[in-house]
Amino acid sequence: MYRTHTCGELRISHVGQTVTLAGWVQKSRRMGGMSFVDIRDRYGITQLRVDETTAPAVSETAARLGREFVIQATGVVEERQSKNAKLPTGDIEIRLTDLKVLNASQTPPFTIEDESDGGEDIRAKYRYLDLRRGPLKRALMLRHRMAHEVRNYLDNKGFLEIETPFLIKSTPEGARDFVVPSRMNPGEFYALPQSPQTFKQLLMVAGYDRYFQIVRCFRDEDLRADRQPEFTQIDCEMSFVEQEDVLDVFEGMMRHLFKEVIDVTIAPKIPRMSWYDAMDNYGSDKPDIRFGMKLHEITPLVQGHGFSVFDSVPYVGAIAVPGAAGYTRKQTDELTEWVKRPQVGAKGLVYIKMNEDGSIKSSVDKFYTPEELQAVAAAVEAQKGDLVLVLCGEKRKAQTMLGVLRIEMGNRLGLRNPHEYAPLWVVDFPLLEWDDETQRFYAMHHPFTAPKPEHLDWFYSNKKEDLERVCANAYDFVLNGVELGGGSIRIHEADVQQRMFEVLGISKEDADYKFGFIINAFKFGAPPHGGLAFGFDRVCALFGGQETIRDYIAFPKNNMGRDVMLDAPSRIDDVQMDELFLRSVAPEK
Ligand code: ASP
Repeated sequence: MYRTHTCGELRISHVGQTVTLAGWVQKSRRMGGMSFVDIRDRYGITQLRVDETTAPAVSETAARLGREFVIQATGVVEERQSKNAKLPTGDIEIRLTDLKVLNASQTPPFTIEDESDGGEDIRAKYRYLDLRRGPLKRALMLRHRMAHEVRNYLDNKGFLEIETPFLIKSTPEGARDFVVPSRMNPGEFYALPQSPQTFKQLLMVAGYDRYFQIVRCFRDEDLRADRQPEFTQIDCEMSFVEQEDVLDVFEGMMRHLFKEVIDVTIAPKIPRMSWYDAMDNYGSDKPDIRFGMKLHEITPLVQGHGFSVFDSVPYVGAIAVPGAAGYTRKQTDELTEWVKRPQVGAKGLVYIKMNEDGSIKSSVDKFYTPEELQAVAAAVEAQKGDLVLVLCGEKRKAQTMLGVLRIEMGNRLGLRNPHEYAPLWVVDFPLLEWDDETQRFYAMHHPFTAPKPEHLDWFYSNKKEDLERVCANAYDFVLNGVELGGGSIRIHEADVQQRMFEVLGISKEDADYKFGFIINAFKFGAPPHGGLAFGFDRVCALFGGQETIRDYIAFPKNNMGRDVMLDAPSRIDDVQMDELFLRSVAPEK
């Protein structure tokens, strides 16, 4: 037996017992005839004490220990002289009678402490050492707990966990596919699933009316801090349901997770907001509703006063930033530069300062009387002391820019408390999105999302304005300004699905080639169905109070999609290339 207890287990009640622990050396030090060694494992840290005079052999072994050596230590549990209230085992220590080195270790390239001295790259290269650190251990434990509670909840609700294949044909979630060449089918490729979307719908056709899976998805996208090329979804689908049934089950799941995993009680009814209200009031399809500072349209109030910037655009909107009227010229200049950054994309920023003394000062005083500015302030619900910020342009673009500015001001004013949770359902999304560049419609969610039955006339119309008006029973679960999941009621009739492909400009041949299997399946008694998927990594990160998902994935990729520990992706040898009938035309590195 290597150990009798773990390194996080011993308490004052164990005093007097002889125990054996096994683990890693966190640190060791000598002090006046004594050696102290901290031994660590997944469960915690325990202090070992060696007395030079009574145990000289053990003391000699202790003197040879280095950081991260793997040791086995036997001794008697004793009450500590100076207790450490920060450690659960801090009341005791073990007076060693035996100490074995099970394996030595090179000096680790960075300190294995909660706050490490290692940079991101070096920690990624030695991920298995980084994973020994407390914060990562806690992140993975939280992830385990979440997965466990998801299964608990869904199993209780009658959901079946069913696996779907990874080597498949392209799925349309709007990203690029990762592809895998087939040796047995020369010149042909599998695609890795961007999600199990089509499979879960086929499972509904097959009669498995409540399905879920905690499943890996693969999307070849340009990466951002919170994206990974492979990530995990809680993927679900249900038959014989309407939107309300789906929202009900998954509102329940989120409430269960909040309660069981982080002991947070969320409101009994999660608020709903239409996509249109979200865009008009928050300039975002994933509004952070922990604070106000809503958008207000002021177009009619500001046009026709000779200010050509406002006169030449279809939309002018503003937010009132509470208590920011005192912003100096330098600060408003800095903010103007901030909104001009490509990530925001505004051409400029107009401000109106609602001074505490009741006077008004703006960057457009030349064009507007104080009364006219007062009217704008009233429309924006600005109070004395507020700073009104105005942006303009094409309606949705300008609203989106204002939305980004709103979040930034929320951050600057400390209005986004990470320990306050404000979940929200965004509903009634438009079905389609027009793209000016390619002059065609794209599916806002994906091509299997059903138009609302009451909008079917518009859906079958050939007018662009009609098609733009079609809404879907599609929904997103949003928490604190982050989209955690989304789904929809699906198309279950072959002819509606055909029409959808037609609207998206996918030819009949192309649709048959790519999606013939699902159009066909719909001809064999497809039930009405709908579902959704949550981004599991992101849910874990948010529950852990973090912005980035990387800590919640045991072996993540970096911003370039590389695994720097494995050094992947990498070249494969010529034999493998030949077997796969592949020739590389990539430039030599
Ligand atoms: N497959 C969708 C996605 O990955 C989710 C869904 O519609 O269920 O976003």
